[in-house]
Amino acid sequence: MHNKPRLLTPGPTQIPEQVRLELSRDMVHHRKPYFTSMMQELQTNLRRLFCTEQPVLPLSCSGTGAMEAAIDNLFNPGETVLVVEGGKFGERWTQISEKKGLNVIKLEVNWGNAVDPRNIKEHLDKAPEISGILLQASETSTGVLHPVSQIGELVRERNTLLIVDGISAVGISPCPMDKWNIDCLITGSQKGMMLPPGLAPISLSARAWQKTEQVESGNYYFDLRKELEKSYEGQTAYTSSVNLIMGLKAAMELFFEQGLEEMHRKYWALTQMARTGAEALGLQLLAEDNYTWGLTSIKIPSDVDGQKLVSRIAENYNIVIAGGQNQLKGKIVRIAHMGYVDWTDILAALYALQATLQELGGSNRADSNYLEQALKAYEEAKQAPVKEATPKT
Ligand SMILES: *Cc1c(COP(=O)(O)O)cnc(C)c1O
Repeated sequence: MHNKPRLLTPGPTQIPEQVRLELSRDMVHHRKPYFTSMMQELQTNLRRLFCTEQPVLPLSCSGTGAMEAAIDNLFNPGETVLVVEGGKFGERWTQISEKKGLNVIKLEVNWGNAVDPRNIKEHLDKAPEISGILLQASETSTGVLHPVSQIGELVRERNTLLIVDGISAVGISPCPMDKWNIDCLITGSQKGMMLPPGLAPISLSARAWQKTEQVESGNYYFDLRKELEKSYEGQTAYTSSVNLIMGLKAAMELFFEQGLEEMHRKYWALTQMARTGAEALGLQLLAEDNYTWGLTSIKIPSDVDGQKLVSRIAENYNIVIAGGQNQLKGKIVRIAHMGYVDWTDILAALYALQATLQELGGSNRADSNYLEQALKAYEEAKQAPVKEATPKT
């Protein structure tokens, strides 16, 4: 008898039944009234999700497509951008920007640390030609939360656009676009949105829209001004991902039955649960203070092969977690708690982690009551007010 599958990776994530049923509905036409009125209704919830008064455009692509659309529509070749590189997704900003011919200043940050806003300020003071700051709200490869709200304060009086990849933050931890002065916010359907991969909602501030008028886009498909115009009619520029949009509508309804704050509180509590459990197992966490609410990165003892650990957990328990990427490969595991998850998933993951570490002969420093400790942390965090998601640096 197989165990129930548990997909606990930082994308794709598990999907609730209500959304799966929506995905399987009869096809409808994307230019007809049923669909366009659904799109218009959806706008309200997408704006609530992004905490913005601006339109949110659900592009048909994975998250990287929206990252590329942002760069392509907001900057001309030769412009200078500052990229926060503290992980694999930070590096992606650099690669996309260089492809567009931008001049990239890299602000390298240790993998596992958050960027210090004072370093950003130094760069902005030294190089006033910087016309964009590119970073992740949550760097998924390390599980670090960057101080977006503090960086937003720095660009308020400057002519610098703040472009935030919120793919593993939106819907998971606070990332209010308008309040934090974000000029472009992106997410992806397969992370915190309880949907399959394939949609990447993006939103631009008023001044970012103004900037697009001065930019020569090199891309036919990802033309954001064209998408904006079509969005007023409840349409997309080209054929919409009809079923994903229907799924999105259902997902947003589930989401707002709870409300943004309750959803954040849940992910916060699951984060406390995973972190407490890992520490009670005698393991170290990669991110100390500034940690993401959607996943927990746990260091693996050097006497254990991290890649083998991940594959044995899948074979033995049907629980799929993620390993490390690039320089962290084999050194960490990442247990995701985003999308459609609850405490029983994290309980199962902690148990599987402990048992498999033992199977692979790692030195056992686990407290015997690690599961109780984890559950207690979860219960306490659920009662306490959610901390502001502003990391201390
Ligand atoms: C998942 C993810 C992406 C996008 O990856 P896709 O595979 O293109 O969806 C980008 N940035 C972050 C922070 C992510 O977590």
